[in-house]
Amino acid sequence: MLQSKLFTKTIKEAPKDEMSFNAQALIRAGFIDKLAAGIYSFLPLGLRVLDKISRVIREEMDAIGGEEILMPVLIPKENWAKTGRWETLDVLFKLKGEDEKEYALGATHEEVITPLCRKFLFSYRDLPIMPYQIQIKFRNELRAKAGIMRGREFLMKDMYSFHADQADLDRFYEVAKQAYFKIFERLGLGGITYLTYASGSSFSKYSHEFQTICAAGEDTIFICDNCRMAVNKEIIKDQEQCPICGNKKFREEKAVEVGNIFKLANKYSQPFGLEYVNDKGEKKEVAMGCYGIGPSRVMGTVVEICHDERGIVWPKEIAPFKVHLLLLSNKSSWENNKKEADKLYQKMREQGIEVLYDEREEKGAGEKFSEADLIGCPIRIVVSDKTLAEGSAEVKKRNSADSKLVKIDNLVKELTQS
Ligand code: ATP
Ligand code: MG
Repeated sequence: MLQSKLFTKTIKEAPKDEMSFNAQALIRAGFIDKLAAGIYSFLPLGLRVLDKISRVIREEMDAIGGEEILMPVLIPKENWAKTGRWETLDVLFKLKGEDEKEYALGATHEEVITPLCRKFLFSYRDLPIMPYQIQIKFRNELRAKAGIMRGREFLMKDMYSFHADQADLDRFYEVAKQAYFKIFERLGLGGITYLTYASGSSFSKYSHEFQTICAAGEDTIFICDNCRMAVNKEIIKDQEQCPICGNKKFREEKAVEVGNIFKLANKYSQPFGLEYVNDKGEKKEVAMGCYGIGPSRVMGTVVEICHDERGIVWPKEIAPFKVHLLLLSNKSSWENNKKEADKLYQKMREQGIEVLYDEREEKGAGEKFSEADLIGCPIRIVVSDKTLAEGSAEVKKRNSADSKLVKIDNLVKELTQS
């Protein structure tokens, strides 16, 4: 992409009413825009990152048998009333339709997916199934001061699984857990994201959160370094020791919940009468699980963790572009240098290398360098009078201070191998 064509710009000052670091950094670098507390637009650079996060999640959900769907955002009151959540789910945004019919905007989708599956699940042969969606959720969050880590509207991947019995739910739950570890590893949060025991429901003693260590996080977790698990402080009261190994030494950390998985058993299948016929011809209730991840919260979390004083340092797999190509030049050599940089840009694109090309003539070197640091692509390549004198370009990784000259002829090959 040509940077001159990007309609958004980096900006000097983040809005004064924006308290959170992630939103400040993302607004300054031109990734997002704030409309109101907890409500943000994703701009071209920001949407690329969000889409890449979603892509990683989608790949791992598909790999364990997930089938992607898209459910409505407007959910009639009667669906919520069936489970009692019209009254009890305090974050619901409620509204009235033209015929005085009441709706709530989707804050979670058990009340849609369960009656939906009732139309397709009849026999044990139809099970298990694992539909999921990636969609904007709406929650009237009391505190929306954490930038895109806590939005009033935010992206969520929510998968729901349907099983013939508890044993099959237990089996798939472990499969989903492993898929979540893979996802956080690929998103650049491996090693600092802990499977965390949190309060469960009436159906299981615990639910499992995936908590990423992060100073800006709103949760406190106690980590057992022995088995690399954690316990959420909210349930530690009756949890004096690690639920896995019995170790009593915990390490306390601030953390953010990036994912949450739940065994729902018959909590929703019962009110919606979701049953199937087993191989003996008996009617049975379907056992359910649910599995959430917030791609927009993940994006905010990555920014909180992966940055330095000059800007964001994106992990490879979710960077908006792999390469940021900067063209620098004296006035007199502009035409020639631009020709060389254009050729390089073209060659990189032909090789499928994602590149943001700063070919703006009116911007000086200092500004281009500081914008590149702010935006945070993993590799910066500079073509200038100095580098071209050696038939080279300068290559520098965003997460390292060292740079090196690489012959232009070898550059693309080197990049495709890195
Ligand atoms: P929290 O305790 O932080 O309010 P939650 O437990 O209510 O979150 P879930 O219902 O488990 O959230 O949602 C699944 C996932 O969706 C969370 O793990 C998180 O990644 C994301 N998420 C939840 N609420 C928000 C929000 N307000 N903004 C951004 N992401 C969110
Ligand atoms: Mg949760």
